[in-house]
Amino acid sequence: MVTRRLTILGATGSIGLSTLDVIRRHPDRFSVYALTAGTRARELATLCREFRPEVAVMADPKAADELAELLSDLPAIRVLSGSEGLCEVASSAQVDTVMAAIVGAAGLPPTLSAARAGKRVLLANKEALVMSGKLFMDAVAESGAELLPIDSEHNAIFQCMPSDRIRDPEGAGISRILLTASGGPFREHSAEALRAVSPEQACAHPNWSMGQKISVDSATLMNKGLELIEACWLFNTTPERIEVHVHPESIIHSMVEYVDGSVLAQLGSPDMRTPIANGLAWPERIDAGVAPLDLFSIGRFHFERPDLVRFPCLRLAAEAFDAGGTAPAVLNAANEEAVSAFLAGNLCFADIPVIIERTLAATAVAPADSFETIFAKDTEARQRAREQIGLLTV
Ligand code: NAD
Ligand code: MG
Repeated sequence: MVTRRLTILGATGSIGLSTLDVIRRHPDRFSVYALTAGTRARELATLCREFRPEVAVMADPKAADELAELLSDLPAIRVLSGSEGLCEVASSAQVDTVMAAIVGAAGLPPTLSAARAGKRVLLANKEALVMSGKLFMDAVAESGAELLPIDSEHNAIFQCMPSDRIRDPEGAGISRILLTASGGPFREHSAEALRAVSPEQACAHPNWSMGQKISVDSATLMNKGLELIEACWLFNTTPERIEVHVHPESIIHSMVEYVDGSVLAQLGSPDMRTPIANGLAWPERIDAGVAPLDLFSIGRFHFERPDLVRFPCLRLAAEAFDAGGTAPAVLNAANEEAVSAFLAGNLCFADIPVIIERTLAATAVAPADSFETIFAKDTEARQRAREQIGLLTV
C-alpha cells in the first residue's frame, strides 16, 4: 500500500471537503501536510483541529491573522498567507500529492508550483489548465509531475483509456470522446425564461452539489466549454474529436469511442468522492464512501444535443480554443467577472455570454508564450469585462 502526504488547496470548498471525507476513511494511507482556504478562517480552523496539518494557509492576510488567533492553542500549526504561502505548501518537499481545488484563476500559481515541483497533481481547478494550456502541460512534462483528472468527466475518460496512452488517443485506437453534460437546471427553459432566472435558481443544480461559481457555469454550459478545453489539453486532442452529449441523469460521466465501434463508459452516482478516491489511490482502488449505483431505480438514460442558441457559452469556448494563444485565458477571465456580477445581482443570467463574447472581441489574442503574458491578459480581460458589465442594466 502506498502512503501519501497531502496538501489540499481549497480545503473548505465542495471538492476540498469531499477530499477530506475520503481521507478520513483511510488514516493509514493518507496524512495531511497542509490545508488552505481563501477567506473563511473559522471553517479552516475547524478542519485544522480535526486533521492537524503542519501548515495552514489563508490566501487573505487578514483571514490568516484571524486563523492564527483561532489556533493560538495549537502552536505546532504554522499559519502562512497569500499566494506565496499557497505556492510554498504546494511545492514543499514534505508532500507528494496536491489536491488543486481552489476555484478560478487564483488557483493557477499554486497548482503550477505543484506541477513544477513534480508532485502528483489532482486537478479539480480546471480554470488553471484552461488559462495556461500548453504552458501548463509543458511544465508537467518537464518536471515529471503526475497529472490526474478529478473533474468527473475527465476522470471517467481517463478510466476508459489505456493509462499509458492518455496523451496518444489516436495511437490507442480512440476515434472520439463523448463528453457528457447534465444540461444544468435550465435545460428546458426558453430563451425568454432564461432572462429572469435568479442566482439561487442557478445554484440549485439538479444532480450535483457544488460551489457557486461552477454551479452557475453548469447552468450556462460554460462548465462544459471549460471542460472541452480541459479535455483537449489533458488528452492531447481537438474539439472536432469531442462530442458533447447532454445526459440529464448524470450517471454516465463520459465515454470513449474506439475505431472498432466499442464505446467504453464510466458510470457512477453523481458524487465527487468517486473521482477523488480514484485520483488519490490510483492505480489502486479504495472505498470512497459512495453508495453503490442502483440502476433499477434510475431505469432509463436519455441523451440530447446541446442547444448552442440558448446556451452560447459552449460555442464561445470552442471558438476560444480554436483562436488559441491567450484567447482561452480571456474567455475564462470574462466568465469569472460575469458570473460574479450575476451572483451579486448586477448582471442578468442571459447576459453572461454577451459579456464574454464582447470581451473576447475587444481583447487582441497574443501568443501564450509565458505565464506573465497569461496573467497580463487575465487582468486586461477582467478590466474590459467590467466595463462591458457597467454598460448593461439588470
Ligand atoms: P468552492 O467555491 O466550493 O471552493 C473553493 C475553494 O477555494 C474554497 O476552499 C475557497 O476558500 C478557496 N478559494 C476561493 N478563492 C480563493 C482565492 N482567491 N485564493 C485561494 N483560495 C481561494 O468550489 P468547488 O465547487 O469546490 O470547486 C473548486 C474547483 O473544482 C473549481 O475549479 C471547480 O471548477 C472544480 N470542480 C468542482 C466540482 C464540484 O463538484 N464542486 C466538480 C468538478 C470540478
Ligand atoms: Mg465536470
